[in-house]
Amino acid sequence: MQAWTQGADGQGASKARELFQKVYGGDPQGVWSAPGRVNLIGEHTDYNAGLCLPIALPHRTYVAASPRTDSRVRLVSTMDPEHPVQADLDGLQARGVRGWAAYPVGVAWALQRDGFPQVRGFDLALASCVPVGSGLSSSAAMTCAVALALDDLFDLGLGGDEAGRVRLVQAAIASENDMAGASTGGMDQSASMRCRSGCALRLDCRPELDAMSNVRQVPFDLEAAGLELLVVDTRAQHQLNDGQYDQRRATCEQAAQLLGVANLRQAADQVNGAADPPSALAALLERLPDETMRRRVRHVVSEIGRVDRFIEAFGRGDYVLAGRLFNASHDSLRDDYEVTCPELDEAVDAARQGGAYGARMTGGGFGGSIIALADAGKGSDLARDVAERFASKGFKAPRALIALPSSAAVREA
Ligand code: ADP
Ligand code: MG
Repeated sequence: MQAWTQGADGQGASKARELFQKVYGGDPQGVWSAPGRVNLIGEHTDYNAGLCLPIALPHRTYVAASPRTDSRVRLVSTMDPEHPVQADLDGLQARGVRGWAAYPVGVAWALQRDGFPQVRGFDLALASCVPVGSGLSSSAAMTCAVALALDDLFDLGLGGDEAGRVRLVQAAIASENDMAGASTGGMDQSASMRCRSGCALRLDCRPELDAMSNVRQVPFDLEAAGLELLVVDTRAQHQLNDGQYDQRRATCEQAAQLLGVANLRQAADQVNGAADPPSALAALLERLPDETMRRRVRHVVSEIGRVDRFIEAFGRGDYVLAGRLFNASHDSLRDDYEVTCPELDEAVDAARQGGAYGARMTGGGFGGSIIALADAGKGSDLARDVAERFASKGFKAPRALIALPSSAAVREA
């Protein structure tokens, strides 16, 4: 089993700085970083105004950057160091930049559009220690690191408090949605910008909440609990922009309309707050016209309910129940929401059989990664079990890491 040592080696900041010096000459004005994330529970709930519970990974994306006085943007990534790319912010329209450059350029474009005309061009070098396309949010790590860099380079004064960080989160989301054309519900960017070390972020995605009331830091001390959180990247194709994600979103919106609620969160609150939630859910589903839509709604409503149950179970040391909630989440994503794939299901099954308290896919699905909650010291055995299962199925060899809840975007130097 391959392990990811990248990102734990502390070399990201100097890699970004060295690449900057090599490509542009001279020193960058600063280096900033932002983490990838894993979501503990609450999947496909963010765009339904629901609840989710991400932690920041120790794996981060680093950007070395300097401001320019014109509107040009020059970019280079360690992923393709021989091919720097350029763009111009002047007259730029949505979807006006193609390829990976859309993400960083889109952040500057969104900030300019949303009230910060002082943002100008910049030179930037990127070094990512977040596995790319593994469902661990390398895209948000990149846009959030860029957002914090631009905040400093152009004195926007946003990075220092929660309300300001929410503005940066919004620019990062707009960049993915409107410039890169990759739909995102906002959990990834909030995690990368707002998580704290040692904590999970209980993110409440109701749009009416302000920056102070939409997050709560939930202690998630795995070490004190004698536990490990294993992350396994199945390396199965992870492709969210082939329409599946948008279809799920559209179905949820239609269902909310049919139910006469602003979003499925409102339906979830009615069900989960009822005296008898299972019959309340059954009654709700009866009001929907087709079986597929009923299953999609059942996932969203039940998944929102699982988030606080997980927090409560973990908080009082009931790891058996916490693990069962992981399992229920995965099964719901597999059977009702239909966003898993054979690799995710096999990885989860192997981890459960190997003795994890529970295991589930994490992220958008259709590939990407799983997480498993296990006793401390057991993670590498489980990773081996998954690798053996994959070998026997003829799947690509997976990669594994042990996750610890880490900190949000910061200035490094
Ligand atoms: P995830 O966010 O789960 O890793 P996405 O498909 O949302 O997967 O984002 C991956 C995309 O982000 C890549 O295809 C690439 O365009 C871009 N990306 C992420 N990190 C980097 C990087 N360090 N350099 C260049 N592009 C990157
Ligand atoms: Mg992403």
